[in-house]
Amino acid sequence: MAHSTSLTPGEQAKQIRYRDARSSGAYDDIWKSVGKCVFCDLRDKYVFFEENGIVMTVSLYAYIDGHFMIVPRRHIRSIKELTQAEWDTIRKFTYIAKKLIKEVYGISGMQLVQKDGANAQSTVDQHLHFHCVPFDAPDLAVWNYRKLKHTPLENAELYRTAHKKIAKLSTKFDQKYKKPSGLRIVCDLIIINEKDEILFEERVDWAKFAPDYITIPGGGIDDFSETLEVELAREVAEEIGIGIDPRAITLVSSLVEIAPALATTHHLYAGHKPQNRSLRNTYVLTGFDSATPLTPGDDCESTLWVPRGEVANHPRISDGLKWSIQSLKL
Ligand SMILES: [Zn+2]
Repeated sequence: MAHSTSLTPGEQAKQIRYRDARSSGAYDDIWKSVGKCVFCDLRDKYVFFEENGIVMTVSLYAYIDGHFMIVPRRHIRSIKELTQAEWDTIRKFTYIAKKLIKEVYGISGMQLVQKDGANAQSTVDQHLHFHCVPFDAPDLAVWNYRKLKHTPLENAELYRTAHKKIAKLSTKFDQKYKKPSGLRIVCDLIIINEKDEILFEERVDWAKFAPDYITIPGGGIDDFSETLEVELAREVAEEIGIGIDPRAITLVSSLVEIAPALATTHHLYAGHKPQNRSLRNTYVLTGFDSATPLTPGDDCESTLWVPRGEVANHPRISDGLKWSIQSLKL
């Protein structure tokens, strides 16, 4: 290949070692010396397409020429952690993959392989990835067939006996992991006291953003059975322990923004921002008595008052929120 001629002999030898590792047995030894997450550390020279935090990258230890992977930049372990936008991108890349393999390698079949967990013989089971494996003959996936205990009807019956488990998992997923398709709706509240100060929150560690912004009370709305104002009042009660009258607040701004990214996932630092757009409605409550006791809760660690005049140059307030506060006609 033309590209290879520009490599030094040492670099070329390394490429050959990658190429032959699967058949030489070297692959198994290589993994014993890898300490960090290899998919958090993808090399640009192997990545050939990227959109929305999802990449297509060739496999260093390919099963067959043309084998590549679809990998989210974020260090996440499971499909359930993908945002809707990331999942949509993976779906698109899967479509592209099959046509691309046909175009470049002349092979019209593809197997999409996702090995879930170490027991499924995934070498990197802590960072989600999908193998796109060109398929022209069954030699790469020789399935052995075990002697069966059950007929098809018996197997269906066995799964059906677990219907309560299925319903339970379905509910759990909807509650914990389901992301709204389309725009997420976020409502938050500017609370101003008699000294013209605005109430901000320091967020608890697991809910901190990158950068580490202070925020105002509020959050994502999941329940639309009542007005947004009522839902926002409920959020405010959870975060700072005060009851507000939903009719006493006024809409200040309504804008679509890229939601700030959380600084961490459950597993590791994840600096790549998922492209999560939100519709953010910001309301205001004026004349709040600064002597009112506040009780931080939920994702609020503590509260602080910031004079309104200091907001514009405050380094820990997001641009979107500054814009909303400056839109106040008071
Ligand atoms: Zn990783």
